[in-house]
This record gives sequence, structure tokens and C-alpha cells, in this order.
Amino acid sequence: MAGQGGAIESSDTLLTTRILDNAFQSSLESNKKWAEETSKRDADFFPKSAKGQAPQILWLGCSDSRIPETTILGLKPGDVFTHRNIANMIHPTDLSLLSVVEFSVRHLKVNHVVLCGHTSCGGVNAALGNSKIDVLDLWLGPMKALREQHVAELEKLEGAEKATYLSKINVKHGVEQLRRLPPVLEAMRDRGLQVHGLIYDLATGRLEDLHCGEHESAGKKRLAVFETK
Ligand SMILES: [Zn+2]
Repeated sequence: MAGQGGAIESSDTLLTTRILDNAFQSSLESNKKWAEETSKRDADFFPKSAKGQAPQILWLGCSDSRIPETTILGLKPGDVFTHRNIANMIHPTDLSLLSVVEFSVRHLKVNHVVLCGHTSCGGVNAALGNSKIDVLDLWLGPMKALREQHVAELEKLEGAEKATYLSKINVKHGVEQLRRLPPVLEAMRDRGLQVHGLIYDLATGRLEDLHCGEHESAGKKRLAVFETK
């Protein structure tokens, strides 16, 4: 029995490997075609791209494969500086996030920081559940804390609505965290950098602006607490 099981398993593994190889190979073929077509359409595109970048937008989003920011915004390579992680979490001690924010805000001088959550987010669903998911329990800890703070509102909602509600709260909270980071705080104060919160609807492809604008008095209060000299 064990031998038979092994044979079935190895032929399955071979088949899986072949399918994965094909997906990889076809993606390389697709890249070749894309590069040729792009060059044909715009001969300056790659020479210009190789010289440098001047994106206007820093996009912070979820790693989910269905939300490639440049594609959904209808923009081109070079238009959006990007950092993505599971459930678009803003951890103020995440060195990778902080490096991306520092470089894009202080050096590339982007004018807009966009934090985008989405509907049907696996990370949000995980934060709404109680299954043990090892390292992701740590990663999603701050979202679980938001779930705890907003338990009364969340209890009134069901399924997808509940998940979208927590996604929105997570984005609004993330925007507040971002505005306290020194590069963002200083660029908002000195040159009017804007921080936006969005939700992407997977079912329609549309972005919803959560209007995370800040009142003047709230901005003053934030500066009084977080500004350092
Ligand atoms: Zn997600």
C-alpha cells in the first residue's frame, strides 16, 4: 500500500511541477512579448525608464495578487512607488515600510501617499477569526486590537460587510499612523504632501475614497505631539 501511495504521490508531484514550470515559462514568454510591443509603441519608453524615476504616488497596499496597483490605476511602470504586505498593515517599527516611506517621501518627493485596503481580504478574514495562524497572528495583532475596539459595530454586521468594515477601520487607522511618521509629518507640514485612504472593491474593480482628510485642529494637535526638532 505504501509503495502504491508513493507512486501516485510522485506522479502527482511531477504533474504539479510541470504545471508550475509552464506557468513560469509562459510568464517569461509573456514578458518578452510585452517588452517588444512596448518598445514598438514607444521607442523611448525603456531608455527613459533606465535613466531614473519620478513617481508622484507612493502606494501602500495588500500583497494580494488581484490588486497590482499600476494596472488598476491605469498607469505605467514608473508612475507608482510601491510597498505591499499582507492586509496592508502599517506597523510603525516595520523597517521595510519605513525605508520605502523615507526614500519615496524625502528623496523622490512623491506628492501623494495612498494606503489601500480591499474587500474579501484574507488577512482581514483571519483577523476576524480565531484560528491559530502562527506568525500571521503576530502580524495581524494590531488589526485584532481594532476588532476588539470596534466589537459592538462589528457584531451588527455579517460576512462580507463585516470584513469590509474592518478593512476600512484598518485603513483609517493606518493613515493616522502614517501621518505620525517623521518623513510624512514633515512633508505634510512643509510642502503639502497628502495622505489618502482607499478601499478597492474586487467585485467591481473600483476604488472608494475613504476621505481620510484631517481637520486643521487635528493636524495642529498631531504636530504638537509628534513633531521633533
Ligand atoms: Zn488583502
